[in-house]
Amino acid sequence: ASPFSTSSVRMVDYITTHDKIANPQNTKMFIDNQLVESKASTWIDLHDPATNNIVTRVPQSTPDELVAAVDSAEKAFKTWRRTTLLTRQQIMFKFVQLIRRDWDRLAASITLEQGKTFADARGDVLRGLQVAETACGITSQLTGELLEVSKDMETRSYREPLGVVAAICPFNFPAMIPLWCLPPAIITGNTVVMKPSERDPGAALIIAELAKEAGVPDGVFNIVHGSAPTVDFLIDEPRIKAISFVGSDKAGAYIYSRGTANGKRVQANLGAKNHAIIMPDANKSQALSAIAGAAFGAAGQRCMAVSVMVTVGKSKEWVGDLIEMAKKLVVTGGFEPDADLGPVISPQSKARIEGLIQSAADDGAEIVLDGRGYKPAKYPNGNFVGPTIITGVKPGMACYEQEIFGPVLVVVNVDTLDDAIELVNANRYGNGVAIFTKSGPVAAKFQREIEAGQVGINVPIPVPLPMFSFTGNKGSILGDLNFYGKAGLHFYTQLKTVTALWKSDDADAVDKASVNMPTQS
Ligand code: NAD
Repeated sequence: ASPFSTSSVRMVDYITTHDKIANPQNTKMFIDNQLVESKASTWIDLHDPATNNIVTRVPQSTPDELVAAVDSAEKAFKTWRRTTLLTRQQIMFKFVQLIRRDWDRLAASITLEQGKTFADARGDVLRGLQVAETACGITSQLTGELLEVSKDMETRSYREPLGVVAAICPFNFPAMIPLWCLPPAIITGNTVVMKPSERDPGAALIIAELAKEAGVPDGVFNIVHGSAPTVDFLIDEPRIKAISFVGSDKAGAYIYSRGTANGKRVQANLGAKNHAIIMPDANKSQALSAIAGAAFGAAGQRCMAVSVMVTVGKSKEWVGDLIEMAKKLVVTGGFEPDADLGPVISPQSKARIEGLIQSAADDGAEIVLDGRGYKPAKYPNGNFVGPTIITGVKPGMACYEQEIFGPVLVVVNVDTLDDAIELVNANRYGNGVAIFTKSGPVAAKFQREIEAGQVGINVPIPVPLPMFSFTGNKGSILGDLNFYGKAGLHFYTQLKTVTALWKSDDADAVDKASVNMPTQS
């Protein structure tokens, strides 16, 4: 069956295959609620990772275009912040309906530009949609506090928007991460300038069209494009009050330090090396299939991918079964109905991943399943890497220390749970971790002692739904207000407190001003 058969959107709206596109259109910007063709002199070619055919050209937005986007957002903020919460909520209700309506269209854009399988791309959309759905409950999430602090006097607090905020997004979740930012930012009254990844901006543009159709007014959501020059503009532009960044360590450290030095609020989610600990008492087949899915799904290009399996004691004997499971995964173009994993994002990424696999052998580890050089017959020019498993890995090896961001699982063997905890705690990253066990006390000790921000107990990718927040820690985050959930709303708002005195009698005449520190008692 066609993966598109359930959609209500017209088929012609889709780009449904990996076929060569005859006349690739340039990617537009979205400024003041209009799709705008850039006057850029620099363009970035975007290739379908399964074929390396050109899909579109993405502009490096010009300085004037970048200023125009902020002008539009600044103007819109004046009126958008005054709209009632109920008005914004109604728009958000409509927005979530439209994302559901165009779910397959969004997923098709993701598969074409990013490479992940169509089913996985639908999940990418869903996890972003859930943030928008949760934002619909804003009327009970944004209430302030009130206290009668003295006779006739009360203090109350409000959360107010910041103004124009920016989002700088990575390539690996083209819908989810824009939607981590947009709904909480606009429902709280801010206006947004977004820079999607220059490697796959298509989904963000569809989201912008849907936001407009839902009733988001002109200028509330703008999209500009490009690479470092656009980022430099956003982090230096004084009218932008806050930056949400998700991506690699290098870009994140730079954006965080320069953005905060410029007086902006910055939340930055960075790289990861997520461990899954497999205890000898675990349910073997459930644990292995969960780990294989989390290691190789999305070709390992998830910040919460399991990239290290830690076998404790006898569970090291299960690697053979894991290899058999990994061999069954189908690696091919993401629109193929049987695809389990698609290509990685670029030839450079493939070369980097294969280099790290080679480094493991050079460092004395054993490549027990080697996905290098894999070419699906139908997609000989794609950036494919097959599932790869490396055993005998030790801290200090490049394949252990670096985020590989490909379908590669390294296996470290330890003797005890304490050894496993020590290994994870010594790692510089702290995005996610999982343990597979049937023992409640083991799980309880693990969750207490482990230093990682998102802990899964028999759950391989413990990314919380948006009623919680995405809570990576250690080297996986800079800044202290997490994406989405309560922390996300706090990131996009500032507190205002009002202290009011309404005297119940005004009989006493005052003839001398009191100059002492007011105690409000
Ligand atoms: P990336 O850092 O290359 O790009 C992210 C954004 O930063 C893009 O918009 C890009 O244009 C911009 N950018 C890149 N280099 C820059 C530079 N030198 N100066 C200024 N801006 C720059 O990241 P990516 O490859 O798109 O994404 C993959 C990375 O993102 C992985 O490390 C992954 O772990 C991480 N990630 C983290 C999370 C999380 O929540 N922790 C989620 C998704 C992805």
